[in-house]
Amino acid sequence: MKTIFREKFKVTQGYGPVHGGLDIVGLCGTDIISPIDGVVKSSAIITDKNNLTWEWGNYVRVDDGEGMRYFFCHMSSRSVKAGDKVKTGDKLGVMGNTGLSYGAHCHFEVRTGGNIRVNPAKILGIPNGCGTYTVESAPKWEKTSEGWRYGSLKNAWKQINGRWYWFDGRGIAVTGPLVVNGKTFWFASKPFHEVKECQLLMTDESGALR
Ligand SMILES: [Zn+2]
Repeated sequence: MKTIFREKFKVTQGYGPVHGGLDIVGLCGTDIISPIDGVVKSSAIITDKNNLTWEWGNYVRVDDGEGMRYFFCHMSSRSVKAGDKVKTGDKLGVMGNTGLSYGAHCHFEVRTGGNIRVNPAKILGIPNGCGTYTVESAPKWEKTSEGWRYGSLKNAWKQINGRWYWFDGRGIAVTGPLVVNGKTFWFASKPFHEVKECQLLMTDESGALR
């Protein structure tokens, strides 16, 4: 699931022939965040009512790497400018009621590079209709009697805050030596200085810590 609001949001109007986007209200905050990595193509408000775009009020357009266009409308304020690079989760602006809008919400619209509207619910990975959705929260470190866990990671490498960890089949971060594909990796067996227990230790050829 992708999101344009943190934690929890409500879809108040679905996408269809008479409504080219999804109307979404943030329930745990009013920041509108980018659901994708991309580049800001527009950040504007059109006040000339001869131009239909005035209906969007304060709006931001972000294009992804494939040229898909994402529009976020009716903002009370905008936090980015054209040319800015944004990452998933970056703040784009604040939900509002500008343009042709009856109550604070975000009209979220997605178009192809050829300017053809597509179903934004599909992009977010939710049903196309009214409903309330909770965004899965980021995993956190959790200490168990067996060792450290990080969400539900199993049999996987994971880089967390710039450090590498290996999670075994039980989901426990490995400590001490581990052989993977014939190569030995060393993980801290206890915390010291800035090193977290179980983080991959970077060593030089002679095994000394770097
Ligand atoms: Zn709308």
